[in-house]
Amino acid sequence: MPTERSAPSTPQHDPVVGTVRRSTIGLVLVAVLAAAAVAAVAVEPVDAQGAVTGPWLRVFEGLLVVVGFVGLRFTVRVATARREWAAFSFLGAAGVMAVGSLVLLTDDPALAGHFKGDVAQNLPQLLAGPLAACGVLLLSRPVRGFVEGTRLVLDGVLIGCGVSVVVWYLALQPLSEAHYGPQGAPSMAIAYLALDTIAIALGLMAMLRVSVPLRRNVLAAVVGLCWLMVGDALRGFEFLPPGIPELSASEACWALGIASLAAAVWIPVGGATEERPRHTWWWWSAMPYFFVIPVAAVLVSAAVRGDLEPEVVVGAAVIIALLGLRHVLTLSENVALTDRLTATVRGLEHRAAHDELTGLLNRTGLIRRLDGMRAQQEEGRLCSVGLVFIDVDRFKGVNDTLGHAAGDAVLRAVAERLRTVVAADGADAARFAGDEFVLLLPGVGEPAGVLARAQDALDAIERPIPLDDGGEIVVTASAGVTIATRLDVGEAMVREADIAMFEAKSGGRARIEVFEEDLRQRSEVRMEVEQDLRRALAAPDSQFEVHLQPLALLDEDRLWGAEALVRWRHPEKGMVLPGRFLPVAEESGMIVPLGDVILAEACAAAVAIPGLIVSVNLSPRQIHDSKLVATVRQTLETQGLAPARLCLEVTEDILVDDRTITVLENIQGLGVRVAIDDFGIGASSLRQLRRIPGAVVKIDRSFLENIDGERGGDDRVMVKALVSIAEQLELEIVAEGIERQSQLEIVRDLGVPIGQGWYLGAPQRAAAFVTERGGRPLVRRTPRR
Ligand code: C2E
Ligand code: CA
Ligand code: CA
Repeated sequence: MPTERSAPSTPQHDPVVGTVRRSTIGLVLVAVLAAAAVAAVAVEPVDAQGAVTGPWLRVFEGLLVVVGFVGLRFTVRVATARREWAAFSFLGAAGVMAVGSLVLLTDDPALAGHFKGDVAQNLPQLLAGPLAACGVLLLSRPVRGFVEGTRLVLDGVLIGCGVSVVVWYLALQPLSEAHYGPQGAPSMAIAYLALDTIAIALGLMAMLRVSVPLRRNVLAAVVGLCWLMVGDALRGFEFLPPGIPELSASEACWALGIASLAAAVWIPVGGATEERPRHTWWWWSAMPYFFVIPVAAVLVSAAVRGDLEPEVVVGAAVIIALLGLRHVLTLSENVALTDRLTATVRGLEHRAAHDELTGLLNRTGLIRRLDGMRAQQEEGRLCSVGLVFIDVDRFKGVNDTLGHAAGDAVLRAVAERLRTVVAADGADAARFAGDEFVLLLPGVGEPAGVLARAQDALDAIERPIPLDDGGEIVVTASAGVTIATRLDVGEAMVREADIAMFEAKSGGRARIEVFEEDLRQRSEVRMEVEQDLRRALAAPDSQFEVHLQPLALLDEDRLWGAEALVRWRHPEKGMVLPGRFLPVAEESGMIVPLGDVILAEACAAAVAIPGLIVSVNLSPRQIHDSKLVATVRQTLETQGLAPARLCLEVTEDILVDDRTITVLENIQGLGVRVAIDDFGIGASSLRQLRRIPGAVVKIDRSFLENIDGERGGDDRVMVKALVSIAEQLELEIVAEGIERQSQLEIVRDLGVPIGQGWYLGAPQRAAAFVTERGGRPLVRRTPRR
């Protein structure tokens, strides 16, 4: 294809600007040639057939076609194959018109019969309209499928037929009858007119469909078609004797038609970024129907006058048949469209109410279902609804340690199991958010029934979940239960179950809690604490202080270390102990930034007392924080504390998880000590201790409570056993909760080397602790995070 596509752009030469300049030159040339052709029509002689006989008109027409071809070479820049073919169609149309006007020159009246000659001679010229119409259709946006294409062509044919019948009846037929008598009807005229109007109709429809950048090109082509039709129509009147005019207006129109088609090729494609207008002109697409109305009028009038010609009848019959066909097509298109629309709407509705990952109802779907149940309840068809709120325990840890793909697999597995649990009796399962699920149990009135289903759900969740990498994971979940005999607002019910679930979590996880009113109060208190905590953390002056409690070497009555214990100096409530706010901090994730502050202050205090080991508590959330090890390393560096002087305490519960053991190993890898806090009351086994060599084991204070009493024998045996195990495994042992001299003596006699408790020293503000023990003044450097 002779096109010039995106020439490489250099700073000196902008191809777009170049194209625009060339287009201007081309269009000016076209305009000059068109004016010259019209002038030639005016000055050159006209023969008896109404054709211009001088040579110059033909020369200018030929030149217009040539200029058009040159334009094809230069202007098709935003070229698509479609545009090239369209340009070829325009030039083809212009070409056959030029050839046709040459034919007019020949003396042979049969050949010159642009109006009355053989079909064979007229055929090339008849092609001009359809060719140009093809061009505009090609330029407009591609036709979608056979049906749309057929409808488009039908529309054009319908309009063409309608116009032809009317023009025939009103003008051509009476005129030709007047001049030639009933036999001499110029039948070819109707063919020209029909084809011209069909082409123009298609052109107008293309105007509607075309994208903005190509609109001017299509417009120029349609204008060309209009000139063509006007020329053909005028020719009819000129040709009728004695109408031979001095000036052949039809020739001028044809020349202008050729010029417009050449211009359609030269006009540059513009504004490629513009959008097509959004609105649809319904009346435009209904155009074929409008054109039928005058045909009906013609039929009626002809019937009344009794001159119903076969041409009119055939034309009308063709129109009716086409109209029927077009209607069938439109209907089938509509049916297909409606089907697509229905499917889309259904899909959207489903998606709006369902969760993409698990396919369960989502929050919207759940609330909708609850609303539906409320309606049922109001009609008396439903007595009560049980609702179970389920939250996967420590799900964030799964995501953080195993990745989101594993997290998704867990959620899908949980959803699948919940689906099975609710499979019967119209119950529903929903994914409320993240790792939160809700079971809706309509008609389950008594708590025992709901509790049983909740327990089934938790049991199902606890079965091992296979992972893609071939491994397995076991997760637990906590559940809150509520029963409504009168549904008010669905969301309130979910909230109640959520509160109960939170209680289950706080109570140690993997449990079920039933909602009661006082839970709501507790939950409100918790909310208040959470908001206070958030404000305190954001406040410029820290409200949190670290207190230190001594850890003493029992044999030598000397300081071994100190445990850092956080206190919250609340501006209104005074000193708040960790038991009041740490669970909230843990649940909300605020423990992580708070923990960073505590760690930094504790390290700063340890630096002030030479040789002191500072022990800092880590909550589960902190252990699962992927940045923990980096933060610890960073803090030690910033504060300038040797790693061996820091000990991090974790509760033994977290030891059941292999991945947290890896975290502990990494911490030990830094040279930092690890302590197992509250040992003996949690869920780990002694076997786990072997995996963290060198750890400090802090015997829970419940072992010491009665160790000096009458029934303290068992506790003494336990402590003794722990001491010997610790010796075997090279662990350090600490006894917590020494409140009396007697307790101290017993644990010392049992061989416990280190002790902690009020008897040995209560927690005390870090600064006071340091001063009392002759340390350097406390200098706290700001932590990085
Ligand atoms: P824990 O780690 O077992 O800390 C020891 C708790 O026992 C402290 O309570 C301490 O004041 C108390 N205690 C000390 N000696 C005695 C005694 O002789 N008898 C009795 N009955 N209690 C004694 P506290 O400070 O209220 O801390 C409670 C818990 O809060 C801690 O238990 C620890 O799990 C957590 N915690 C405290 N500070 C932090 C912290 O900075 N970060 C984290 N993550 N948790 C902390
Ligand atoms: Ca502790
Ligand atoms: Ca403890």
